Amino acid sequence: MLVARTGYTTFAALIGLTCASAAAFEPPAKDENPDANIRKLMDGVSIERMSKHLFHLSKDPLPCRKLNFTLPGHEKNTLYEADDFLAGKLSSWGYRVEREGVKVQAFRCDPRKPKQHQYSPPKPEDPWYTAHNLYAEKRGRSRPEEIILALAHKDSQSWVDSPGANDNAIGTVGVLEIASVLSRHAPERTIRFLFCNEEHAPWTSVTAAQNARKRGDRIVAVFNLDGIGAKSAEETAAGKKTNVTAFTAPEGEWLAELMATVNARYGIGLQQRTVKRPGPGDDDGSFVRAGYTAAIINIGSWPYADPNYHAEGDIPERCDVENAALTVRATLAAMLTITQTGR
Ligand SMILES: [Zn+2]
Repeated sequence: MLVARTGYTTFAALIGLTCASAAAFEPPAKDENPDANIRKLMDGVSIERMSKHLFHLSKDPLPCRKLNFTLPGHEKNTLYEADDFLAGKLSSWGYRVEREGVKVQAFRCDPRKPKQHQYSPPKPEDPWYTAHNLYAEKRGRSRPEEIILALAHKDSQSWVDSPGANDNAIGTVGVLEIASVLSRHAPERTIRFLFCNEEHAPWTSVTAAQNARKRGDRIVAVFNLDGIGAKSAEETAAGKKTNVTAFTAPEGEWLAELMATVNARYGIGLQQRTVKRPGPGDDDGSFVRAGYTAAIINIGSWPYADPNYHAEGDIPERCDVENAALTVRATLAAMLTITQTGR
């Protein structure tokens, strides 16, 4: 808690937020031209590459990503195949990938509930599987102990035959894209990537967050990408490019403000909105619960308005990849703003 608070004021000062508490802190030594560097890296975000990865993970060759579905004639289940795909990409860009196993079960399906909420708890006799958290990181040059975390849940819904394109192949390829762009960049603070699982029980981000806490990791900012660019059919048809940044604890608010700041500063063009979560939720919530309160989720709509949420129709053709790429650019800019101010 104390660490997070210190982080708040320090970072507020570092990134030039105009709040009274920040004024007391000395400005950091300036990078030669941090803005130009950030713009250059943002330009590296590729809609084409994101789209290619999205279709790979939610249509062909992988129609979904779950432990309880294996393609005919294949040895590994579709989630393991997705893991191999992600690890292969990350390795090819020079990252060392670590896997952390967590015992999970598939959710059961309760058809009496509304379509979006048909997941129900597994029974003890249901099969157990090992799901994996995948980690990769870029170690910081000058402040490696301070960690900026970008994460996304990579699995699709274990209780329904959905490709889970907006939920959450799109966020997965978003984090993958950030890793790709940063593969040849040397940040001041450590940038860590986590690909976790939230559509099986329990969520593996809980283990990730608790183990980080046990190790004493100093995670100064958590960015969860989930359903980025996903919104109502009306908003999509109207060509709206939206992002909602939701924070939970007061220590997360500066991150939400930073998303708005970079969106304006770099002319990214998102309709950017900030909301406060009523309590910890999703994978960012796992980190909040573990004491990492500087945590946000970037999501296309709030409340989540994708008409195909948790349904068979959540297909990649319906993803607004252009919108998602803008969100990735903004997230990347926010992460770089934090890391580049290191000395
Ligand atoms: Zn979901």
